[in-house]
Amino acid sequence: MDRTKWLCAIVTGCFCFPSGLEAKETLEYTVRFPQAQNHLVEIDIAIPTGNQPHLELMMAVWTPGSYFVREYARHVEDISAFDGEKNPLPIEKIKKNRWQVTTNAAAVIHIRYHLYCREMSVRTNWVDHEFAILNGAPTFITVPEYLSHPHHVQLELPDHWQQSITTLNRPDEASAHAYRATNFDELVDSPILCGNPTVYPFEVGGKEHLLVNQGEQGLWDGVAAANDVAQIVATEQRLWGNVPYERYIFFNLLVETRGGLEHDNSTLMMTSRWNFRSRKDYLGWLGLVSHEFFHTWNIRRLRPQALLQYDYENENYTTSLWIAEGITSYYDDLVLARSGICSEKEYFGLLSKSIESLQTKPGRLVQSLRDSSQDAWIKFYRPDENSHNARTSYYVKGAVVAFLLDAKIRQVTDGAKSLDDAIRLLYQRHSGDRGYLPGDFQIIASEVANQDLSAWFQHAIDSTQELDFREAFEWYGLEFKTDGQKEQEKLAQDTLDKQAIKRKVWLGLTTKNDSGILKVERVLRNSPGYRAGCNPGDEIIAIDNLRVSPPTWQSRLEQFEVGERKELLISRRGRLLRLTIEFAKEPRSKWTIQALPEATDDQKKRVSGWIGSSNPME
Ligand SMILES: [Zn+2]
Repeated sequence: MDRTKWLCAIVTGCFCFPSGLEAKETLEYTVRFPQAQNHLVEIDIAIPTGNQPHLELMMAVWTPGSYFVREYARHVEDISAFDGEKNPLPIEKIKKNRWQVTTNAAAVIHIRYHLYCREMSVRTNWVDHEFAILNGAPTFITVPEYLSHPHHVQLELPDHWQQSITTLNRPDEASAHAYRATNFDELVDSPILCGNPTVYPFEVGGKEHLLVNQGEQGLWDGVAAANDVAQIVATEQRLWGNVPYERYIFFNLLVETRGGLEHDNSTLMMTSRWNFRSRKDYLGWLGLVSHEFFHTWNIRRLRPQALLQYDYENENYTTSLWIAEGITSYYDDLVLARSGICSEKEYFGLLSKSIESLQTKPGRLVQSLRDSSQDAWIKFYRPDENSHNARTSYYVKGAVVAFLLDAKIRQVTDGAKSLDDAIRLLYQRHSGDRGYLPGDFQIIASEVANQDLSAWFQHAIDSTQELDFREAFEWYGLEFKTDGQKEQEKLAQDTLDKQAIKRKVWLGLTTKNDSGILKVERVLRNSPGYRAGCNPGDEIIAIDNLRVSPPTWQSRLEQFEVGERKELLISRRGRLLRLTIEFAKEPRSKWTIQALPEATDDQKKRVSGWIGSSNPME
């Protein structure tokens, strides 16, 4: 930076306020990409000192919406401090994510650092020759005592990047790539995409929306995708009954990884460029769109009190993530059906997958929904080989519980009310800076149901007891497809080889082919493999002294009967061991919902009132 620019930064970085007004020092960031191809970003900050002898700097350790400490300061390189005359100032690292600068009486100090940006996820940074996606938390060092102050950003793009897109305000039309956040929260909540993305604008509810595709490679029909996104937007705007933003951006990075993160006025999504080629994958992407957009209300503007003020350096604990994420996960697919994007059968398929994911994991009997939320910080984002045995997902069980709660409210009010009414009332009473406490939603759901639901909530949220689907299924006229039905269907398709339906015995082991070696990946709790003492990492060599290998493993299991006991030869850390294993019948592995053939007209009406398309844009 030349001298003129330093002086310019001093002038813009220090504001004089008339007496009586509180002066709010503005942080001025300049972001450059001199080594984008090496994933490096250069950042300068001009910070008014308020005449303090020392100033502490801080980098966030986590990104709101993704409840895991990620230690973003680990990507900061060669940080230095100067005064307005370019004289170096002492800067010392005092904590993992904090620095202290001695200001030497400078009115404004300048911080320069480089940032390594090569983590392709919706909460971190990626920069290469083609584009940059910058998230606020892992990018911008700030001053802890200035979090409520304005944070301004000036981007200096490489010549071959035409655009920068963000929901941050621009000071005026003439200033290219200059943006203003009113405070640090807004800066963190506003991802910045730089490069040459393709933009598809559309209007719904009188508001402008953009679908911003990065990396289309000719494989996406952006216009068709924007039309489907518009249907979702219309359905959710109607569901909530208000539109709390002026402009909304769907950042859609086609980068062969998957994820989404919600913001007040945007979402950042990552997906596969091939999604447009398969109905199943495309529906999965629309489900992601629907999920993230639903957060515009649920978790962005309607939050547990524990998340009203983010502590960027420490965990914010809440037991309500099942409301924020579980209810959102319930509605994401439901909105696709209500928008006319997916059929009733497709919706039942999606709901069945959630129920199946919950019911086939022993962890549902170990961790309650409430505890799953509280422990998100140490468990949810750290899956390991024991997760299936010990954890519950507040997304998955939260969605299933939301489905049951919706059915419950409909049933006890004879169809007059639903979960839609409960979340709208929660929003009316607790959105904005009021927030809600864990018990508030139970009170509101009980009010809407006109019935005390505390026992129901205790069972579904606080306990690890099995969920009961009977009431909900009776209300809608649904059932789970039975194993007998599945076998009959298979028989009808495959009459020549009746042996093909022979049931495999079950060991409760998940195996993988590790360069030709048959390795145990996971052992389900209380399964035959668990009782025999099989461990993750064991190499399975033989059953009953006969060699097995990855290609023969599945067919070999068809040779044994339920109740037979055989010897399993394994190798563990290079040592041979013989374990006695007793084959068992496989527990239910498919939880497929279908309408009862004898469903009554009333039941059918209830299903269409629940998931029927209501989109006037169809
Ligand atoms: Zn979510």
